[in-house]
Amino acid sequence: MHHILQVLTPTWFVFIFISRNGINGFGYSKREQHLWPQKYESCAGELQSPVAISTSKAIALPLPALEMVGYHDFLPTPQVLINNGRTVKLIVKKNATYERSPYIFGAILKQNQQYEMEELHFHWGIKNSKGAEHVLNGVRYPMEMHIVHRNTAYPNISHALRHEDGLVVVATFFQLQDEDNTLVRPLIQKLPDVQWAHTERSVNISITLASLIPSNTDVFYTYKGSLTTPPCSEVVTWIIFAIPTPLSVRQINTFRKLSNGEETLGDNFRLLQDIGQRKIYTRRLDSSLWAKDIKRNNSQLNITDLSWFWL
Ligand SMILES: [Zn+2]
Repeated sequence: MHHILQVLTPTWFVFIFISRNGINGFGYSKREQHLWPQKYESCAGELQSPVAISTSKAIALPLPALEMVGYHDFLPTPQVLINNGRTVKLIVKKNATYERSPYIFGAILKQNQQYEMEELHFHWGIKNSKGAEHVLNGVRYPMEMHIVHRNTAYPNISHALRHEDGLVVVATFFQLQDEDNTLVRPLIQKLPDVQWAHTERSVNISITLASLIPSNTDVFYTYKGSLTTPPCSEVVTWIIFAIPTPLSVRQINTFRKLSNGEETLGDNFRLLQDIGQRKIYTRRLDSSLWAKDIKRNNSQLNITDLSWFWL
């Protein structure tokens, strides 16, 4: 098929059609992003991500902490490292010996619900001035990591994508500093193994999720949104840490050596989406910052049952 096309058509056609967008493909240029809703209806929905976050507009609440179980354990091995031409992804597989994937609960999540880690991936810029998907107080960091968790009430991701409480994505920004961040080194060292687009490797990376997120996770932002890639399913509860993880320029440049099949992989972030009627909440421990409703003990924002969030 591939060979026949190459004979019958100019090579640039094969390149764009097959390499860049694949069969179910999508692109990140502005023009291409505006085409996402043609193939994926949800991408034009009302609960889309990413969004701009402003600390002063977010509703400060004394939310429960985000409980992260297994975040300090090495991820089960082997994992699968993938360059799919749009991002680099580390997938955690269930292995023969019973090791549970890390999971989360608490924060804004429904009581008795747990969300198990499935994979993590990154969005980054070719230049340092952009790369992250969410914008925090007008700042677009050079990189953002997404740790995707599936509600354990659903057997797999495709089931989870059909329910509004299907996924939680824990997001961390990265901020550049001079020194390498030695904690993230084991992951970055493996990136050259998937330099080419559409490569997949079985890897044994000794790394914990805790080493990829900030040491202080007390303050986070949370809102209801979507996947930031097609099919843009509106099933994601976002939890975004306020404090970024450090990373050196040398380390982010390792991501910029990956290929998307045509050129440097990067600038793989979606344009900002309209927040619409949604509210962004932020966990604060300082009572002087809490929303007035909470100070007055208004039951509309009862922080013990949180049902108002899930209406
Ligand atoms: Zn993502």
